[in-house]
Amino acid sequence: MSNPLTIDLARLAEGPLERTARLAPESVSWTGSALRFAEAPTVSFTAQANLAGAVQVHGTVEVPIRLSCRRCLAESVRRFEIPLDFLLEPELEPGSEDEGVFPLPRGVDRVDIGPIVREELLLTVPEYPLCGNDCRGLCPRCGINLNTAECDCAVSEVDPRWEALRKLRV
Ligand SMILES: [Zn+2]
Ligand SMILES: [Zn+2]
Repeated sequence: MSNPLTIDLARLAEGPLERTARLAPESVSWTGSALRFAEAPTVSFTAQANLAGAVQVHGTVEVPIRLSCRRCLAESVRRFEIPLDFLLEPELEPGSEDEGVFPLPRGVDRVDIGPIVREELLLTVPEYPLCGNDCRGLCPRCGINLNTAECDCAVSEVDPRWEALRKLRV
């Protein structure tokens, strides 16, 4: 089975390559990411070789991702549309990578852009998502969701810093 994110470099000599692929969530391109796809991501891109032998890639990744709010743990699905815009550069010195420029290994017939696409996804999807900036979270005492309910815990709550001081005084 061929990887749709692999670009055949000889094919680029004939002109720009356009491709749209839905990548199964279990695709090797996503291996090791903890992303939870609500549906298979769709990757569309155009790859074009320039005169200097570099490959310009433009495109998008569209994907609905399941997120759980880090405060109240509510699950939601957010749809991301992430632009892809990078250059694969054959003359790139190691360590001189610029933003949006990646090395194109010498002497290869094909290049897999999967790791770059995966990186773009990981950079865009928030690691600690919130359902909303005003999310009130869960009550640390009783665990009730404070966005949808109220509890009496806060009324009797003592600031833990005062609690520590009080213990010192005794
Ligand atoms: Zn929340
Ligand atoms: Zn409570």
